[in-house]
Amino acid sequence: MNTATKSYKNWSLQEDDRHILWVALDVPHTTANTLSFAVLQELADIVETIKANTQCRGVVFISGKSSGFIAGADVKEIAAVEDANAAISHMRQVQTLFSQIEALSIPVVAAIHGFCLGGGTELVLACHYRIATNERHTTIALPEVKLGIHPGFGGSVRAVRLLGAIAGMNFVLEGRGVDAQQAKHLGLVDDVVPLRELRRAAAYYIEHQPKVKKMSWVHKIMEISFVRHLLGSLFKKKLAAKVKIDQYPAPYAVIDNWVNVGAVEEKAFAVEAESVGRLLSTTTCRNLLHVFSLQEKLKAAGKEVDFKVQHIHIIGAGVMGGDIAAWCAVQGIKVTLQDPSAEALGSAVARTYELAKRLLKQNHLIQATMDRLCPDAAGDGIAYADLILEAAVENLALKHDIFKKIEAHARMDAVLATNTSSLGLADIGSVLAQPQRLVGIHFFNPVARMPLVEVVRGKHTDKMIAAYAASFVKQIKKLPLLVEDAPGFLVNQIVGGYFAEAFKALNAGESIEVIDAAGRRLGMPMGPLELADQVGLDVCLAVSEHLIGKEAALAQTVLRAKIDKGELGRKTQKGFYVYVKGKPVRSKEKADPQKVIVLERQLFLGLLSRALLCLDEAIVNSIDLVDAGTIFGMGFPPFQGGLLHYAKTMDKQNLAKELAVYRNVPIQEIESSSAWKLLW
Ligand code: NAD
Repeated sequence: MNTATKSYKNWSLQEDDRHILWVALDVPHTTANTLSFAVLQELADIVETIKANTQCRGVVFISGKSSGFIAGADVKEIAAVEDANAAISHMRQVQTLFSQIEALSIPVVAAIHGFCLGGGTELVLACHYRIATNERHTTIALPEVKLGIHPGFGGSVRAVRLLGAIAGMNFVLEGRGVDAQQAKHLGLVDDVVPLRELRRAAAYYIEHQPKVKKMSWVHKIMEISFVRHLLGSLFKKKLAAKVKIDQYPAPYAVIDNWVNVGAVEEKAFAVEAESVGRLLSTTTCRNLLHVFSLQEKLKAAGKEVDFKVQHIHIIGAGVMGGDIAAWCAVQGIKVTLQDPSAEALGSAVARTYELAKRLLKQNHLIQATMDRLCPDAAGDGIAYADLILEAAVENLALKHDIFKKIEAHARMDAVLATNTSSLGLADIGSVLAQPQRLVGIHFFNPVARMPLVEVVRGKHTDKMIAAYAASFVKQIKKLPLLVEDAPGFLVNQIVGGYFAEAFKALNAGESIEVIDAAGRRLGMPMGPLELADQVGLDVCLAVSEHLIGKEAALAQTVLRAKIDKGELGRKTQKGFYVYVKGKPVRSKEKADPQKVIVLERQLFLGLLSRALLCLDEAIVNSIDLVDAGTIFGMGFPPFQGGLLHYAKTMDKQNLAKELAVYRNVPIQEIESSSAWKLLW
């Protein structure tokens, strides 16, 4: 049979004159390839075709899209699965299909360029050879644990077979992506080549068939039952320091499956599929799938415009401006950075180097990043930039001066933006002849770690300018959340409730340990006082002056007492905690568990009350957007699906009563609010 003549919707087959069959995936009308049911069905037919082709000398799986190889299974299809047995049977079929690929008598090569995730990685693990390009965006991962499941197409079994128990399990448990060099180092790919050499390298592997690596004796020893049990308990200990089994059961299941049956025997595949079948119906999995859909919703902002920033000019090289500059330079944008303080500029350059070293690793990429960052004390970059972002100290008069100068020198089509946390956009823009050009692009601290950026629409902001800002946020691989201009916007206003409860408790004599333990018990990555130290107590004060109505006086008293002593938090090595080598020194005393539980509820009510007020004030107009803000902007635990999603799991009547007591208002006031009606 001539394979070249067969046509498929998603795949294209081309047999060259060396009888190498190039099987390219290019799912139509999408930017990324996914392994949907339809794609897999066609693949099953292709495998039959290959088996029947006696001339074919080898097969290369490759992507027809320049963006990447395969982004994984289709998450929408996974989310729609309700019947565990149907899911298990689907996974078993795909496992059989991948095993058939693995068992082909001719060499099979995966030529990987761009992202290769989830099901895509499971497919390449079933190939005989893997070659990856050394491009920056080539990433290989099995990120299923982030969705509350684990690989189900044989990936968790084959990862251990190929990499050995330690590297293989870590690869699955962490769900983190590795670049091509790391993949080579792990033994996940056989070769790393430039994109232009990818096809040539794939053909070389088919024609020369280098020896396929067999499991080493060390790895074989790790497969012995009692060694598995021993290693399993070590894996669990390490995991327990990061996540709890009742909150994130999937990685624990990965360990149990391996401890129980290992990775060598065929039954490991059945165990893997059944385990995913069970996990699919857990609340954690459902919530994490919901979080995935929230992320997709945020990514929809700004898709109507095609706006790419080549050059950003940033004014202010402090904590935020410096880190934003570093992040943008790493993401490939030319940055001019303006600050009257040479020290601030020097520190920003040093931080950029550290970030580039950490994220990019290779010298030529680090050097290119540093070449893109240009300290510009005189502000010459204003005249050339596509986007000018002000991140100077939080002072209205100073920002007025800065924006007058920006408007006088910027290009007519440049977008003007501010990173202010607490000043109104209309107030800042009042000195502009064209206030419609001004938009808020509000980053969170620390910039490199926080995925969310609020795009703030002032009452004058042009719709198109807000869309450009959202598009820029996506360009630098962050999630844009469009919010209306109101004190504290969305996330800080909600976090304000968390701080207010903490300061109240502190003032009532509660210990720092109890307060922060309560925050962590709620699932937050940091207790409220640790968080205040991280943000900076001066910044918290500036925010609180605009935000916290009735609780403002108390918060300000607490914060001023610290600030007057020069204790501004982590940046001065002293705030609520003392910091040694950047780490807070904690008391050895154990927090009273009863007190922690009571305070946890107060912190939750503080957050919830503020979130509902934000909905009442229409800062955003949907529960989903509030939840996205809480997860990606303040680290509300993803396994709960978002603050309001979590609230909805509680008894409606009791919650209304609790909130009424918390706000000291009649229950009818809660129940008649528009936010309450939206929630239920
Ligand atoms: P910062 O004090 O660390 O840095 C401010 C920088 O502005 C300093 O380096 C200072 O030298 C510089 N500066 C002063 N006058 C200037 C001028 N005329 N031109 C250019 N630069 C000038 O402050 P920060 O924490 O980086 O905050 C900056 C902005 O970002 C503020 O508007 C703040 O509200 C906002 N913000 C802060 C955080 C946070 O957590 N720190 C988070 C989000 C937004």
